[in-house]
This record gives sequence, C-alpha cells and structure tokens, in this order.
Amino acid sequence: MIKSKLPDVGISVFTTISKLANDTGSLNLAQGFPNFSVDKNLVNLIKEVSQKDVHQYCPMQGNEMLRFEIKKLIKQTYNRSLETENVLITAGATQGIFTCIQALVKEKEEVVILDPSYDCYETPVLLSGAKSIRIPLDKNYNPDWDLISDSINEKTRMLIINNPHNPSGKIWKEDDFANLVTLLKKHPNLLVLSDEVYEFITYEKNHLSIHSYPFLHERCISVSSFGKTLHITGWKIGYLIAPKHLMNEIVKVHQYLVFCVNSLSQHVLLEFLPSFNAKKIKALYQQKKDLFLSNLKNSRFQILPCEGSYFQSVSYKEISHEKDTEFVRDLIIKHKVAAIPFSVFNKDEKDNKTIRFCFAKDDQTLIKASKILCEI
Ligand code: PMP
Ligand code: GLN
Repeated sequence: MIKSKLPDVGISVFTTISKLANDTGSLNLAQGFPNFSVDKNLVNLIKEVSQKDVHQYCPMQGNEMLRFEIKKLIKQTYNRSLETENVLITAGATQGIFTCIQALVKEKEEVVILDPSYDCYETPVLLSGAKSIRIPLDKNYNPDWDLISDSINEKTRMLIINNPHNPSGKIWKEDDFANLVTLLKKHPNLLVLSDEVYEFITYEKNHLSIHSYPFLHERCISVSSFGKTLHITGWKIGYLIAPKHLMNEIVKVHQYLVFCVNSLSQHVLLEFLPSFNAKKIKALYQQKKDLFLSNLKNSRFQILPCEGSYFQSVSYKEISHEKDTEFVRDLIIKHKVAAIPFSVFNKDEKDNKTIRFCFAKDDQTLIKASKILCEI
C-alpha cells in the first residue's frame, strides 16, 4: 500500500454533487458551468482556424500574439501597461494557481487562505511541504484585516485572495486594497496570489483589481480564466500576470507541468479577443441574476448579496436546522435541485446554513428551479 501524500484530500464536492445531480435527474445549479450555447463566433472560429497550420506546439509561455491581445485587454480594462513577458497562458486558472504555488512557496513556509475558500488552493500548498493557514472572512464575507494581519509572520510567503469571491459573490472595496498595501509594506517578503476569474462578471459595483494599484504590481500575481469569462469552462484555458522576477520562477514549473497550452484554443482566442465585449458578458449575467431573483422572491430562502460571479448564495435558516450538506442532499434527492453547501469551503466545515446556486443556466432551467425552490 502506498502512503498517501494527501491523506485528507478526497473527490471534489463539484464532481460528487454533479454526479448525484445527474444520477437523480436533478437540475444542476451546483457546479459552476453554463448550460447555454457559447458564442457562435467562437464555434465558427474553431472550424476556420483548425484548417490552418495551428496543430503543433506553441511557444512555451503562450502564443506571442495572444499574449499581446491580453496585454491590450489589461490596458483597456485596468489601464495597466504590461510587457508580453508578464503574461503566461495556462491550462485554466487551476493550473495557473498550482504553478505559482509550486514555483514560489517553499517547504515549511506558510500560505494564508481566506475561508470560505475555493478548493484548488490548499492542495498545491501541501504538496510544496508548506503549511496552509485558513483564516475566516468576516460574517459578511469581507476580509477581516485584523485577523489577516495577526496571522502573518516571518514564515508567511503568500496570501491568496479571491475577488469577486466564490462562493459568496462579494467584491473587494477600495479600503481592502488600502489595507493590502499596508500589509505588504509591513511584510516585504509576502506575495499575493489574486484569483480574479470572475473579473468580468459583476453587477451594480465594478470589480476592483490588483492591476489598478501600481504598488501591488511587483508583489502580486493575478489569475484569470477564459472558461469563466467566455463560458467555455471545458476548454481549460486562462492566463496569469506576474512581474518578471516572479515570472522567471513560474515558467520553470510551467514548462515541466504542461510545457505549453493547447494550440488550437490559443489560435481561436487570438482571433476572437479583438471583438471581446465585456459589457455583453455583464448584461448576460445581469439578466440571469434578475430572472433568478425575481422568481425566488416568494421563497422562504433568504437572499444574500451577490456583487459578482454567477453564484447566488442563500440562507435556509427559516426552512430547516439541518447541516448544510444534509440540506443539499435532501434538496437533490427530494426536490431535484442541486446546490453547493458553503461548509465544504471552510477548514472545519463550519456550517452557517448557507448554500450556493449557480445561475449561469438557461432561462428555462432557472424558472423551473426557482418554481421548485418557492415550494420548499
Ligand atoms: N478559481 C475560482 C474561484 C473558481 O471558481 C474556479 C472555477 N472555475 C477556478 C479558479 C478555476 O478556473 P479554471 O476552470 O479556469 O481552471
Ligand atoms: N469553479 C467551479 C465552481 O465553483 C467548479 C469547477 C470544478 O468543478 N473544478 O462551481
């Protein structure tokens, strides 16, 4: 028998719940993936581009022209000037995150993770032989700067932040960035890994990014996902932005993890990006959010604020005292609607009677699901 390197890691909640949703014929508002068609231009571009000579390895760091398009997108969106050397094309944000942690975090160092936290942060920390320090966000899912500051010491190498936040949908405020700058000034060896995969999916408030704060540029890496932005989660392609001194280390791991990312999708995205319209993405999800919420207004679920991402969190305190994992199981088995319980994002499985619905679904699915939810 082999001794596991990751004895406490199991199959992800998303895989488990999607399987249960499929097996029970439930509406899957659990795992975060859209069930509607992707932009026709993307599909047409696959046909067109695949006829060309695009089927061999790309440059290791990614197609130079695609990296140039990303550099333009960052300038347009955040007014940050980059070199193409600052851009690395990754096999989704997950690989970007894994690669950064493996490249930058050493044995016995510490990495601070803010709970509830997305599930792909801790495992690469453990594989680096480092320690993860899980700190709760405050009760409104905002960073608790006193707690964060108290958790940082000379061993802390990295703070992982996620904004807009999965699962709560909260986005950071100006004040949070001021606090982050103060923290980094106090701890010159601390780096920040900023997971911004929902950067283009925001509502009333605009997304604030690390890109908009020049002081942060030399100390932060941002991670983005074309899967989330263009609803092509199965393509597994994204990018990270890092200052040169960190990128030099990150590419050392990247080249032996994937060498380079799938060439066809890089060429398709290169052709597609000049027509990318962030307003269209925002409008699409605003309509979905409005539809879902207006149909849920007569339910007994308490709707929590969703400022970004395509997740709506709700409290079911008025409906049941069950643990959230049990509540979700019943929701799937008895009512045929799947959701994700918040406790799986917490270190100690802390249960706050809160669950998450993904509303990146076609209108019919949203209407059907909310009708069921109103009867509970
Ligand atoms: N970070 C967060 C917060 C996510 O929700 C996800 C899921 N898409 C990822 C990272 C991973 O993104 P990708 O599918 O591009 O690997
Ligand atoms: N990010 C998706 C979510 O939060 C899940 C992606 C996955 O299953 N790995 O639902």
